Amino acid sequence: MGRLIRGISKNARFFVADTTDVVQEALGIHKYDEYSMKIFGKFCTLAILMGATLKGDDKLTITTNTDGYIKNITVTSDANGNVKGYLVNTNEGNFDGLGKGIMRVIRDMGLKEPYVAISDIDYSNLPNDISAFFYNSEQIPTVISLAEECTNDGMVLCAGAFMVQLLPNADEDFITKLERKAEAIRPMNELMKGGMTLEQIINLLYDDMDTEDNSLVEEYEILEEKEIKYSCDCNAERFKKGIMTLGKDELKHIFEKEKEIEAQCQFCGKKYKFTEKDFDDVLKK
Ligand SMILES: [Zn+2]
Repeated sequence: MGRLIRGISKNARFFVADTTDVVQEALGIHKYDEYSMKIFGKFCTLAILMGATLKGDDKLTITTNTDGYIKNITVTSDANGNVKGYLVNTNEGNFDGLGKGIMRVIRDMGLKEPYVAISDIDYSNLPNDISAFFYNSEQIPTVISLAEECTNDGMVLCAGAFMVQLLPNADEDFITKLERKAEAIRPMNELMKGGMTLEQIINLLYDDMDTEDNSLVEEYEILEEKEIKYSCDCNAERFKKGIMTLGKDELKHIFEKEKEIEAQCQFCGKKYKFTEKDFDDVLKK
């Protein structure tokens, strides 16, 4: 089970997450190569961070469309700490990670139209691109570090992230200190491998570098701590509906040749099989 803590102080809000178990579970389902997993794991973690402010039945989806080794990534998260995703490798010749392209962040808040924000990404510059995304789409200055390291035998060594975002009208003094902190702090993978807990990492983010003792830049408050899991809510009914969109004639045509239709969930790998009998109500109309 992964873990996320979010909180707030006078000038900023923060999110820290340990997603090692979540990414390990995703790896168990998808069996991606180590190289792909490193990128996929980071996007799972990013979806968790971005999803941490959702409420109720809201959902968040991140998709990428890029020209690198991995062409598309889709990751979805919700307000209850669930995350799922998959990726498509299409370009064996290009090992430049994701390469360059665009990222879409889709927030479905139960309104008529989901809110979609689009941003350029370039894998060689991923944390900066994510900061730019927050700045361009929401005018929020953001410091983020995403961690994901695997051993070469398919174990996830560490996965997680920390993110600090300035609140509107933050004090100049705090902004200066945060900028200096962003330059000085070790990346998340090193903090995790060094054995730091999420609570210790938050403390480090707020530690005042100008003092010798353990005093903080400002006091912070933890607002929420929640469990994160890789989970898929697919079901047979949804796949059946999808197949029904083929139309009556096409379905008849398929069942003239095949005994069953198999559909597989891209998120969790679960297989669903349907026979002609399952579509009786459509076919006999
Ligand atoms: Zn599924």
